[in-house]
Amino acid sequence: MSWSKSLIKVPVGPEAARRDESGLDDARCGTLRPVISPMSVHVEGTGAGPITARITTPSGAEARVTTESNYPLDHSHTPWLPPLLTAGMRKGWDITFDGPVDSTALRGASEVQKVFLDWYPKRFREVSISAEPGRVATGATGVGCFFSGGVDSFYSAITQSDRITHLIFVHGFDIGIDDESLAIRALAGARESAAELGKPLIEVKTTIRSAFGNRLPLDWGYDFHGAALAHVGLALSQHLSTVIIPSSNCREELAPWGSHPDLDPLWSSGTVVFEHHELDLQRLGKIRRIGGNRTAMNHLRVCWENPDGAFNCGRCAKCVRTQIGLSVAGAQCTTFPGGIDVRAVRRMNLRSRDRGYLKTALAAMQASGISHAELRQAVNTAIRRSYWTPALFYMRSAGARVGQVIRRSLRR
Ligand SMILES: [Zn+2]
Repeated sequence: MSWSKSLIKVPVGPEAARRDESGLDDARCGTLRPVISPMSVHVEGTGAGPITARITTPSGAEARVTTESNYPLDHSHTPWLPPLLTAGMRKGWDITFDGPVDSTALRGASEVQKVFLDWYPKRFREVSISAEPGRVATGATGVGCFFSGGVDSFYSAITQSDRITHLIFVHGFDIGIDDESLAIRALAGARESAAELGKPLIEVKTTIRSAFGNRLPLDWGYDFHGAALAHVGLALSQHLSTVIIPSSNCREELAPWGSHPDLDPLWSSGTVVFEHHELDLQRLGKIRRIGGNRTAMNHLRVCWENPDGAFNCGRCAKCVRTQIGLSVAGAQCTTFPGGIDVRAVRRMNLRSRDRGYLKTALAAMQASGISHAELRQAVNTAIRRSYWTPALFYMRSAGARVGQVIRRSLRR
């Protein structure tokens, strides 16, 4: 891989044969196929305002992505490296930055590529990055910690309080960029929490997920959210030298995931270092720790489904497993709507990760002597149903296709 402005890498052999999505590749040309234009990145804006990247894809489509904050942001190209590299690898697009990118971040980017290619060899492709290596010393010494108001972020904020100087709240990640009403409520909770924890709150709003994650075939959880967090952390380089990313999983649960201890530190630049925090404690351990903190119990926000704008719906897999954890911990949290709705639990839509989390939560409930047979049955029903739902979907689709073929043959 080269970072030289004059050198664009042209893959050959099997790599070239895989790269045919743009329609410009011609496998018949072998190694003499035409060079595909790279994805180009131009950064707009200066001073204390928002930072904006104008991105032109190989097909000539343009997109603008904007990030703004109540703190001045880094107007260099460096913050755009993580999301652009992730998107470029997913699409097989080489990348050209028309300004310098931090040299440490560029070196880390080549390691990031190895991790993604190892995890997702069929979905991600190696790309080249064309950018002038640069470095800007900011002298910042702050320690920031991402703070959504969930279990992981409350745990890191509380246990790392001695060294954290700022908490970072982002609108545009778990809260949709257009969902102003939920954003206002969540931000109010984050402001109160930060004030009670004695930390200034850095407030960020970004279109990065809506511009990339929702348009390109990027999975927010598996592919993109770590790169999006890194974008925000790097954008705060004037204030922070360390950014803590609260872990989603403990060591035993580790699997390919957008924020991961093998990945997050690789997004570091010469001025901002990323730390993936806490691998030794399971979620229940974190809930036990924050269960005794009044601020956490008055502001905990875990729901990412938010039906009808609910703060914590109390019915989705994440809400249910958190409520089970809270009851096991004997904690009183004020942000859930009463008790667990067992009928709703039975109808939960579960992803494969949710099954493991819920089984662990049920085992902890049993181990702590809490007897809730109806809830256990409901969770087990939801888990069993989640194995059958994809099979039924495929059977239905296959049935529809067979029906189509029969109808067509009858029309002939
Ligand atoms: Zn929920």
